[in-house]
Amino acid sequence: MREKKELELYVHIPFCIRKCAYCDFLSGPADENTRASYVDALVREILSNRDTFSDYRVSTVFLGGGTPSVLEGAQTARIFHALRESFDIEKEAEITIEANPGTVTEDKLDVWKKCGINRLSIGLQSADDRELAMLGRIHTYREFLETCEMARQKDFFNINVDLISAIPGQTVQSWKRTLETVAALGPEHISAYSLIIEEGTLFYERYGEEGQYAKETAGQETRLRNLPPLPDEEEDRLIYSMTREILKDYGYHRYEISNYAREGYECRHNLGYWERKEYLGLGLGSSSLVGEKRFHNTADMKKYMQAPASAEIREEIQELSVQDRMEEYMFLGLRKMEGISAADFARTFQTDIDAVYGEQLRKLREEGLLERENGRICLTDRGIDISNYVFSEFIL
Ligand code: SF4
Repeated sequence: MREKKELELYVHIPFCIRKCAYCDFLSGPADENTRASYVDALVREILSNRDTFSDYRVSTVFLGGGTPSVLEGAQTARIFHALRESFDIEKEAEITIEANPGTVTEDKLDVWKKCGINRLSIGLQSADDRELAMLGRIHTYREFLETCEMARQKDFFNINVDLISAIPGQTVQSWKRTLETVAALGPEHISAYSLIIEEGTLFYERYGEEGQYAKETAGQETRLRNLPPLPDEEEDRLIYSMTREILKDYGYHRYEISNYAREGYECRHNLGYWERKEYLGLGLGSSSLVGEKRFHNTADMKKYMQAPASAEIREEIQELSVQDRMEEYMFLGLRKMEGISAADFARTFQTDIDAVYGEQLRKLREEGLLERENGRICLTDRGIDISNYVFSEFIL
């Protein structure tokens, strides 16, 4: 029998209790009826894939959003029932749900266990209540602690905590406190991203693209007015290097630019993205990489609800050329601290990496941004600081 190919699944739940001030994800509040109709549509889309992926085995499932934990337990159970009916999910698959404090209950945790969910990714962002309010989060640090304790009592032994640095008004000291407080709790994984002010967010209206104060926003919530300034470049750099040092002291190693884990708890799903494994996105606006084609579902809720099982919801289908694949291979692979292997590049593309990127590799090494040792190429500390510049050098 032919061995099945590996596939990862991403399932998008676009609902949140309220929109955070910095968030540009495809998500927002919705009433109960909309959530119920969306789950109906999502289940239809999942079931419509039943025969298409029969020669694949699923190694990871990631329920992301939005806030998937706003769904009722029974709705999550329906989604998983449809997933298991439609896909061959490995027994040892990593199955993650994103959960926000204030939306998790003991009953939901029980249902998630029964669904086979074995990893929780909890959105905390900061251990400082003033910073949480600044971000427009719905919860306090205490509520996060309660969620964590509940999850441990229900035997969830693989927990990620999401944190954000460079929050307006955050100091190097308050970031240090957040890191130490969270690391002391001992989650298996910590993601620490730096805040980016994205267009279309409340923060963008206040700060503008360059992070400067922009137009006044009359009518916005009072506590989101008169925001303090963002950390400057130097503080930002300090925060970055401090993160790695502090988390190292607590037993976490950095395995990707913004991700830290205890040994053996690296997120398999995200590693799959960086290693260009095939993945199928299900739900509103989700993207996919299948058979060297990238495509994504419509972000139009009405269109999605009407025809979730039709080919019409798939948009911008892009057939990747060898050149596209090489570029992706480089800038996704270099996000990992272990970097990329020259031998693997040769195996994948049937050509020597130096024949394609020799000049770029030499230049970036001379600039002290890349290092090459034992057949592996990876970013230096300086390269991590300006990784976007490094990645742009690999565009052919
Ligand atoms: S909870 Fe997450 S997805 Fe929802 S609005 Fe906030 S940042 Fe965005």
